[in-house]
Parts: sequence; structure tokens; C-alpha cells
Amino acid sequence: MSPFIIAIDGPAAAGKGTLARRLAAHFGLPYLDTGLLYRAVARRVLDAGADPADPIAAEAAARALRPADLDRPDLRGPPADAAASAVAAIPGVRAALLAFQRAFGRASGAVLDGRDIGTVVFPDAEKKLYVTASPEARGLRRWKEFLSRGVAADLAAVTEEVRARDAADAARSAAPMKPADDAKLLDTTELDPDQAFAAALALLAL
Ligand code: C5P
Repeated sequence: MSPFIIAIDGPAAAGKGTLARRLAAHFGLPYLDTGLLYRAVARRVLDAGADPADPIAAEAAARALRPADLDRPDLRGPPADAAASAVAAIPGVRAALLAFQRAFGRASGAVLDGRDIGTVVFPDAEKKLYVTASPEARGLRRWKEFLSRGVAADLAAVTEEVRARDAADAARSAAPMKPADDAKLLDTTELDPDQAFAAALALLAL
């Protein structure tokens, strides 16, 4: 029997992580935030003083990734966001991270969130959601997230950063961000986390 996989994809700050965590807790499934993998690779590249867009340095960092790298406290924030998106466009980086993601899901089923879970990592996933929200709503959410972590940020700049990162993630040729043909679409612009969770359960008929 194939493991039960819930694939959740979509642009930055659409509410994927909150929803995925909630679904995982509800069904007693392990949860993997796959964005953290790309963030941790980017961190290693930056620590080495290299350019996140350098394929050789980034692929070497992806192959050297260790579980403890995912626990670093400095994986979120503007420099890490852009660097993660840069390493994520490199095919060798994606290839190096694929086996880990698949092994994680196959062990006992899982909820995974990212950009290519339903299209590339688990194209046969039982349940797929593509979560979006308006660029303004997502910019505002990301800005509030920074504030809550004590990171000073400008709303217009944060909204523009989110827009630019989504554009890059959607335009790259390696596993671009896009909904799987069989994904259900969930727009969370007007929804709070409880409403998004209820809507997801209904859409996925869970
Ligand atoms: O989800 P999060 O914002 O943490 O992801 C950071 C970056 O990692 C994204 O902007 C994207 O470039 C990359 N990513 C990806 N594929 C995934 C998850 C994240 O390309 N499955």
C-alpha cells in the first residue's frame, strides 16, 4: 500500500505551513517543511562565503546537509529568503534533496509543504492542495511574522520581496512553483487559520 501523503504547495506566506502543521497533527502524520531544506542549504553556502547562485557551491552544500542544519535559528528572514530561492533554482540542489523528501514521506506517510510536492516530489500523492492568497495579504502576513520575531521591516519592501521571490520560483525551469493538475485550490486571503483548516478538510474530503 502506498503511504498517505498530503501535498501542500503554493507561494510564500499563503498559510501553507500553518495549515500543513494542523493537518499533520489532526491525522497523526509526520510533517516536513521542505522550504527549510532549501533555507539550510542557502545558509551553508552563505556561511562558506560563496554565492547562493553558484551551482557548484550550492550543490556541494546540499550534499553536505545534516539534520542538525534544519534546527538553526537563522533560517528565516530576508537574506535567507532570497538565498533559499536562489539555491532552489539549481537542478543539482533539487536532485540532492529529493531522496530525503521521498524517504521522509514513504516511511509512514506525511504532510509536506513546499513548491513542487504535488508535481515532482510526490506526483501520486493521495491529496493535493495549492494554497494561495493575494500578494497584499501575503506581504502583510510576512511583515507581521517579522515583527513578531522582533525583525524590523518595511511593509512595502516585504511585499515586494515576496512578489519577487514568487516570480522567481514560478519562472525557474527546475521544478517551477505551479499547481499540480489534480490539486485543489484554496485561497486564504479572507480566511483565518481555523477557516482555512475547515476549508482544506472540506476540499480534500477528509
Ligand atoms: O517555503 P519557504 O518560503 O520556506 O521556501 C523558501 C524557498 O525555498 C522558496 O522561495 C523556494 O525557492 C524554495 N522551495 C522550493 N521547493 C520547495 C520548498 C521551497 O523551491 N518544495
